[in-house]
Amino acid sequence: MTCNRMNQQLRNLVDRRVLLERMRQGEDDRTTVSFYQYARIPNPAFFRDYLFIHWNELGVLGRTYVAHEGINAQISVPSIAFQAFQEHLNSISFLNGIRLNVAVDDGKSFFKLMVKVRAKIVADGLNDASFDVRDTGVHLDAEAFNSLTGNEGTILIDMRNHYESEVGHFKGAITPDVDTFREEIELVEDMLQGKEEKDIVMYCTGGIRCEKASAWLKHKGFPNVHQLEGGIIEYTRQVREKGLDNRFIGKNFVFDERRAERISEDVIANCHQCGSPCDDHTNCLNVACNLLFIQCARCADEYEGTCSSTCHNVVQLPEEEQKKLRRGVKDSSKIFNKARLRDTSRGDSVNGESPNETGVRSSEKESPGSPEA
Ligand SMILES: [Zn+2]
Ligand SMILES: [Zn+2]
Repeated sequence: MTCNRMNQQLRNLVDRRVLLERMRQGEDDRTTVSFYQYARIPNPAFFRDYLFIHWNELGVLGRTYVAHEGINAQISVPSIAFQAFQEHLNSISFLNGIRLNVAVDDGKSFFKLMVKVRAKIVADGLNDASFDVRDTGVHLDAEAFNSLTGNEGTILIDMRNHYESEVGHFKGAITPDVDTFREEIELVEDMLQGKEEKDIVMYCTGGIRCEKASAWLKHKGFPNVHQLEGGIIEYTRQVREKGLDNRFIGKNFVFDERRAERISEDVIANCHQCGSPCDDHTNCLNVACNLLFIQCARCADEYEGTCSSTCHNVVQLPEEEQKKLRRGVKDSSKIFNKARLRDTSRGDSVNGESPNETGVRSSEKESPGSPEA
């Protein structure tokens, strides 16, 4: 095989828009799954290529991170190839029999396959050598979670970022106002000072963030740390399967094209422009902005899908003019300012403010906050 052929097999060289269209029109029935595993991977680059070639053949789409410390995958698998996919996983020693988090609200989640080598599978900012990462908190299933969080003295903490908990969270949970997981860990550690003897329960989207965070807290002198196994995704599956009381309100934010899975009918967020109840995230249609924010249908209409008057003006310019404006502008993906969000009191408009300062920006290269789940 020539080097070029090889490269073509290992990369997606098709335009994003073409891929998106292909995904939306795709008739194939798919299952959206996520999984992670901490394991020692001696050669992540080699493993990455190995996964890409096999999964590409099976028609798998989605985003996967591989590191020396393990694998973190959020993907969709054609139903017809699901068994073959599972067999492939089982052929890999540290993934044999792994529990897959299956999305409740299925549909078109990813439009291309991306497998990347990273330093870590979750950007946690922790020095792993300084504590025992295997000494995690007690894992809780949905039933045990409901029971323990029902106790008066239990402290329940949402380990996700503010834009995730904004549209949905567990009743009674503390939802720290943070932009990154790194910040979250620091803040939670501070917040819990003096509460060493309390039962602490933490949760995230699919469970991976709590694996390290719980071990870190134990290391820091909190013995009674618990974590929701499989996160909100697995909790929801169990609640529906067993008919348990659902304590999660709103939507579960997910890092794919679906943006979120609706878990309960409650709408707990507000449109960032007019303040009316709304929990639909969208990306600003000004390509140079691409801000991820919450926008109601009326505002989407009024601002033609843009986040501000500034961006609204931009999209009305001819494409050539827009291109000129984009030139020289640094890619500011993932940048947002929570302070601005806090200052923007509900009901206030964010019109006219710099689009760089509100909400979350997600570039096509990556979802906000990833690699996390
Ligand atoms: Zn609105
Ligand atoms: Zn914008």
